[in-house]
Amino acid sequence: MTPPATSAWKLPALLAGALFGGALLGWLAGGHVAAGAALVAVAEVVFLLTRGGHRTPLIMRAPGAASALQHDRFMTRSRRTAASLRDVRNVAAQLPDAVVLLDRQQHIRWFNHAAETLLGLRRPDDRGASLQQRLAGSELSHWLRDGAREPLIDAAAPGQADSQLNVSMLSFGDHEQLLLAHDVTPLNRLEQIRRDFVANVSHELRTPLTVIHGYLELLDPDDVPELAPVLGEMRAQSKRMGQIVEDLLTLSRLETQHEVVDERVPMAALLATVRKEAEALSQGRHRIVLESTAEADLLGSPKDLHSALSNLVSNAVRYTPTGGHITIRWERVPDGAVYSVSDTGFGIPATHLARLTERFYRVSSSRSRDSGGTGLGLSIVKHVLNLHQAQLQIDSTPGAGSTFACRFGSARLLTPGGSEE
Ligand code: ADP
Repeated sequence: MTPPATSAWKLPALLAGALFGGALLGWLAGGHVAAGAALVAVAEVVFLLTRGGHRTPLIMRAPGAASALQHDRFMTRSRRTAASLRDVRNVAAQLPDAVVLLDRQQHIRWFNHAAETLLGLRRPDDRGASLQQRLAGSELSHWLRDGAREPLIDAAAPGQADSQLNVSMLSFGDHEQLLLAHDVTPLNRLEQIRRDFVANVSHELRTPLTVIHGYLELLDPDDVPELAPVLGEMRAQSKRMGQIVEDLLTLSRLETQHEVVDERVPMAALLATVRKEAEALSQGRHRIVLESTAEADLLGSPKDLHSALSNLVSNAVRYTPTGGHITIRWERVPDGAVYSVSDTGFGIPATHLARLTERFYRVSSSRSRDSGGTGLGLSIVKHVLNLHQAQLQIDSTPGAGSTFACRFGSARLLTPGGSEE
């Protein structure tokens, strides 16, 4: 049999190209350069192992069946394949992310050095062992048992105390799987420093601002009429700063909280309050309608839910010109209930929608400031909803209006005056 006429340099070049391509794809898919390279590296290991297996008999048969020259070529090529295999394995072994190659029964076929450090795997003992059993008792083991469908975020690292991992599972080949674990401890530490900094600064600013605001309130513009406009502006700005500080402190609290104290939140009363607040803010400039058909109370934090739901109404009033309509709805859907606020206001271009819940993100800074906004309202709404396992959905058409909808699951619903559904 004639050996394939592939040039000797092609295979290593192909493997290197694929590795680079994997890294590039990983980068394009959200900056996961190491993950992309790892996936390709492991696929290459599998490819070379499988390829080597097919080639061996050919090489063994070569001397008898073909010329010595052909045999030499075979041997050269096989040495190069082995060298490529070694290179690819070395790359995968040195990756900073933990990489574990699993067979269809989730038994460990291969793992790199980072998997030893981060997951606590040991060689040679753990080769062939069930990964789930090997990590028994850890968050990761429960995740594997449940099918590992969604990536696992901030899981405790089984092999390294006080470290957190983002873990994902990728399928390839013949029902084989690749577990990738990325150490997010340094990122989390930075995030914590940022949170502490914002919380501390806000806290430190609170007292001096209260003092300044207090003195400004004491000054009577009638005593110094020539300074009346300046005084008015100073009061407005100190009030705005006070509101920003309060909103930042609320956000800091919500960010560090992982769950809410569950209390009954009577929705009839809350909706009536929210509507009254909207009317006070609107001062008769809008037509405000309340449609409540859900007949359900919520289970959660009354204070936080009030803050989130009234934020949406306040936005609707502030971003709807005089004469516009605002409709507040509380209605049932098959898997829960939806609170929504629709307006006939300015609307939001589609390009801004994905970023609206970021802190200080505004479609129009001047419009936000003029209407007394801090740029933090929707961030607060998103955090409150996350804590209640609810989702925010935004639909908007520029020039026609917007609908902000909060979707609560059935587990958060209570029959008014009764029990959980
Ligand atoms: P702000 O205090 O600026 O209102 P938010 O976080 O509440 O901050 O909202 C972020 C931005 O989203 C606003 O600045 C505004 O541009 C836009 N926005 C929010 N609600 C509406 C709405 N109902 N209609 C139009 N734009 C809105």
